[in-house]
Amino acid sequence: MYADAEQLAVVEVDAAGRELLLTPPTVLAWQSMSERARRDGVELFLVSAFRSFDRQLEIIKRKLIAGQDWEEIFRVSAPPGCSEHHTGRAVDIGTPNCKVLDEEFEQTEAFDWLVRFAGEFGFRLSYPRGNSCGYAYEPWHWCFVKDIPSALRY
Ligand SMILES: [Zn+2]
Repeated sequence: MYADAEQLAVVEVDAAGRELLLTPPTVLAWQSMSERARRDGVELFLVSAFRSFDRQLEIIKRKLIAGQDWEEIFRVSAPPGCSEHHTGRAVDIGTPNCKVLDEEFEQTEAFDWLVRFAGEFGFRLSYPRGNSCGYAYEPWHWCFVKDIPSALRY
């Protein structure tokens, strides 16, 4: 289970005026990583960042109302309390000319770059293909894990 992050900082405000939040160390790590990628000619942008327990509940309720069944919903959305986005350390990453939150992300230069360098900035891919959590493969979802005590790493 993940609790909502206690301390959050604004990374950026998107076109819709929505604030994207992450923990302060994650903001710094994200900024240095995306700057370095840009210098290497790779554009990374944030699709989503912190999401609260309540927000996750809201998303699931909305899908139920829209007529999706549980199985369908939980294939792509973690139950409230189980999303790494509650920690304020997880980011969904996009790159130009690629559908967001889509497996085609793994065919982009951005993904290749992340596989090679994200570890240097403390980020790791949370749900690789065939992951033990049973979640769908998410090449766009990376989590800042550097300062999590090793005993808590999964
Ligand atoms: Zn995600």
